[in-house]
Amino acid sequence: ENMNHYLSISEKNIWILIQEKIQEKVTPQQFTTWFSGLNLIKLTTKEIHLRAPNSFCSEWIENNYMDAIMLSLKEASISNRKVKFVIDNSSSESELSAQNNYPFLNTNSSANINKNYNYNNFLVGPCNRLAHAAALAVSESPGTTYNPLFIHGSVGLGKTHLLHAILLRLQEKGHKALYLPCESFVNHYISTIKTDDWDNFRNKYRQIDVLLIDDVHFLANSQSTREEFFHTFNALYTRQKQIVLSSDCPPEEIPTIEERLISRFRWGLITRIDPPGFETSVAIIQKKISLLKMDISYDVACYLADNVVSNIREIEGTLTNIHKYATMNKSKIDLSLVKQIIKGFSKQKHNIGIEKILNIVTKYYGVQLSQLHSKRKLRSITLPRQIAMHLARKFTNLSLEEIGGYMGGRDHTTVMHADYKIKKLKTLDRNISSTLRKLENELTKKNEY
Ligand code: ADP
Ligand code: MG
Repeated sequence: ENMNHYLSISEKNIWILIQEKIQEKVTPQQFTTWFSGLNLIKLTTKEIHLRAPNSFCSEWIENNYMDAIMLSLKEASISNRKVKFVIDNSSSESELSAQNNYPFLNTNSSANINKNYNYNNFLVGPCNRLAHAAALAVSESPGTTYNPLFIHGSVGLGKTHLLHAILLRLQEKGHKALYLPCESFVNHYISTIKTDDWDNFRNKYRQIDVLLIDDVHFLANSQSTREEFFHTFNALYTRQKQIVLSSDCPPEEIPTIEERLISRFRWGLITRIDPPGFETSVAIIQKKISLLKMDISYDVACYLADNVVSNIREIEGTLTNIHKYATMNKSKIDLSLVKQIIKGFSKQKHNIGIEKILNIVTKYYGVQLSQLHSKRKLRSITLPRQIAMHLARKFTNLSLEEIGGYMGGRDHTTVMHADYKIKKLKTLDRNISSTLRKLENELTKKNEY
């Protein structure tokens, strides 16, 4: 490959733009871990070449972040290009230390900690009461009550917040506790393969009282890391050290995960956080309002609770947007202003259009809209077709007939059947449930106005 291709000014700007778009779709931690080491080296009308620091990095991105990249490219108005990864082997690997090879690896875990994610700022409601109580118990007496503590729930519901709260409380009490996103663990493991410094690796995770690993569903992607995680788990557990884990799904739904890990997770307590109900949403909104020092009436808080998707991260995002808007325009925040601002926001039903669903599904499966419309009965086409119908049922207000119309003129019983079938598959097939989760996250992710 031509590593010395010089980018024009406009290409450099495009890369900056693409990076910004990616940044909107992943957490800051994920961005530093995977994307800051990435470079655009070539852009043609058909292809875009990205240089990755190593093959592990490029494979990880291909397995986990292609949707984010494709969407970002589209938003930067350069869609329809094939993404190719080029591995940076300009300098031989033996010359580089692991740190140089992974300049983006943040092993200093205190950098990942948000001090605001403490118990004081965590609002308790029916949706998270059990998880909160279990977290408190673990903070009180680590290693004795619930071990491991496994908290799951979909994005933006407070898992990271709770893990931080446990960590902060334990640190206050002088315990040696370590928090890290699962991807950092994976990354550290992979870099250790290169340096062979296993003493250092094992000491880091095994000489502590409490290990908190966030988003363990990422273990799905690396078998050797799961192996190492298993040993780490055992080493800590047998010495009665506390382990706290979070995931976006229950253990048995993590794709490719081995039964022996699932059964380890079951030794302790597995607890779920649900989306907040109306009352809890209102309470959270009022709490955030006071933190942001905003002036919003109870009425408006209720309106927001009723109209913003039930995910606390979105609620926060919406409030921040309203705050910015009101400050910029020096306007008072009343109901009509709020209505105007959140018009086009994504309350689950109502504002997600069928076009968006079709767009995301066809992109995800790499099929054409015309194929979804066609009468073809290949599984590679019927599955995305049925998934699209299921999502349309779930996220739009369209009738069965209308959805059938958008799906190439199918009748309402076909739509009903598809919806039913996917709902059932979702409970039986881990791949399907994880695909649906990804698609739904994609659908409900963005606040736009
Ligand atoms: P997750 O890790 O489950 O995706 P986070 O812990 O990152 O979600 O939470 C998303 C945002 O919502 C954070 O800013 C967090 O402080 C806030 N949040 C979540 N749950 C609560 C809660 N119960 N009370 C107050 N804020 C919350
Ligand atoms: Mg999180």
